[in-house]
Amino acid sequence: MDDRLTRWTVVAGIGAGALVTGFDPMTGNWLTEASASEVPHDLPWLEGRVRLDDAARAAAADDFGHLVRHRPLAVLEPGSVNDVAVMVGYCREHRVPVAARGQGHATGGQAQVAGGLVVDMGTLHGIDVRDGYAVVQAGALWSDLLRATLPAGLTPPVLTDYLELSIGGTLSAGGLGGTSHRHGAQVDNVIELEVVTGTGERTVCSPARHADLFHAVLAGLGQCAIITSATVRLLPAPTSARRYQLFYPSPTALTADQRRVVREERFDYVEGQVQAAPGGSGHRLYLLEAAAFDGTPADDAGLLGDLSYTRGSEQAEDLTYFDFLNRLAASVEFLKSIGEWARPHPWLNVFLPGTGTDSLVASVIEELRPADIGLSGVVLLYPIPRRRLRAPLLRVPGEELVFLLTLLRTASPGAADPAVMVEANRALYRRVQAAGGTQYPVGTIPTTHADWRRHFGPWWPRLAAAKRAYDPAGILAPGQGVF
Ligand SMILES: Cc1cc2nc3c(=O)[nH]c(=O)nc-3n(C[C@H](O)[C@H](O)[C@H](O)COP(=O)(O)OP(=O)(O)OC[C@H]3O[C@@H](n4cnc5c(N)ncnc54)[C@H](O)[C@@H]3O)c2cc1C
Repeated sequence: MDDRLTRWTVVAGIGAGALVTGFDPMTGNWLTEASASEVPHDLPWLEGRVRLDDAARAAAADDFGHLVRHRPLAVLEPGSVNDVAVMVGYCREHRVPVAARGQGHATGGQAQVAGGLVVDMGTLHGIDVRDGYAVVQAGALWSDLLRATLPAGLTPPVLTDYLELSIGGTLSAGGLGGTSHRHGAQVDNVIELEVVTGTGERTVCSPARHADLFHAVLAGLGQCAIITSATVRLLPAPTSARRYQLFYPSPTALTADQRRVVREERFDYVEGQVQAAPGGSGHRLYLLEAAAFDGTPADDAGLLGDLSYTRGSEQAEDLTYFDFLNRLAASVEFLKSIGEWARPHPWLNVFLPGTGTDSLVASVIEELRPADIGLSGVVLLYPIPRRRLRAPLLRVPGEELVFLLTLLRTASPGAADPAVMVEANRALYRRVQAAGGTQYPVGTIPTTHADWRRHFGPWWPRLAAAKRAYDPAGILAPGQGVF
């Protein structure tokens, strides 16, 4: 008996409507909920396995948002890239929709697929660090990559705030962090990709090779291909970070200094946040979070002296580079311990044009009640020069400076109903669009086909052409709702 058969713990009779629940290696019989005649005889051999059990399908029908639930027919745990190619080819033939899943941390069902196949990329996590770049499989986490590169004195140029996201998941969206004002998004630091297209073809693409596919995949929301590995640029890694937290009385005061320090490239790392003032007064504080890497000795006076934060509010601390990048880990553990991590997260992520940012943020914050954002909800505001964001499908407003505004809502006990939060996202997205803004599509904003056309603007025809060429059956990533 072929040894690979035994790895098919459960197989979905996708396409034929049959449910094959297992293969018994002792008797050589398929275990099936349907009649034997319905079992497709053409299921491909795999090095990994296809799961049909309830636990796997229920997990794949959920994500960090806990708002959308599309139950797949089966979940592929690929044992190799070839498995991904073989199963996508099979699904294309049988017209079965397919979604790659990294960590399932998008919040609006983007990695889900009703009645289709979810490809759990987590089993493909190999990392090969070379001189100045790394070849990393798409299911690896950014924390894995960072841990692998630091011993070689190297680092990815841009890391997301939360490091436990998959390479493929963030490269499908963009991938932004505190160094984006210098190095762009994670998608701007990719040299080459290996992908499986919607026809089941395994292909390598780069700016010089199948450039149309390369540009359609980076920030392309999984529409044209599944990323199986990425060659990402690495930079010499700092060893330390001096972290500053500076508090401002108004959004305008905060963004004025954000604009200034970003323009001057004064810090290595720049972010921003809106926080509730202590004491329950209802007032807000506006935080500029910045870091200088490898500064010895740290020149606090030179870095902060002419900024306009509230004097006496500033905090500074020295951390190792890794601890600085991983500083959210402790908060995440805390949020898990109090149950907030598992609650619904109707998140809104949008890019605002620099000129409209102050007024829009001021009015959004003015209107935002604690119940609208939840107990552990967070408002973030990051300044990023547009020239740093080069990947065409990461759609940002056409101004020199853009701001990423995120309302990380949590439906805590006592907070607004999640459906109300989602509706508020929709209304705010309309305002953002009217002000020339775009969405960063990782959140929970109901988005129509017309919205997507508008979102991709001049790039819509090219994305649509790439879709026709590389996913002609239209089976990939339906959870995004783009096509
Ligand atoms: C706690 C938290 C913190 C975050 N912080 C940041 C941040 O600092 N910066 C930032 O930019 N974003 C951030 N995000 C958003 C995050 O980058 C995106 O939601 C990202 O897509 C999640 O990665 P994932 O591995 O969970 O992908 P999933 O949610 O599993 O997938 C997202 C989409 O990508 C597709 N996809 C997944 N893998 C592949 C692949 N290999 N090939 C093709 N398509 C694929 C899926 O089909 C789906 O459409 C954060 C999200 C959370 C929950």
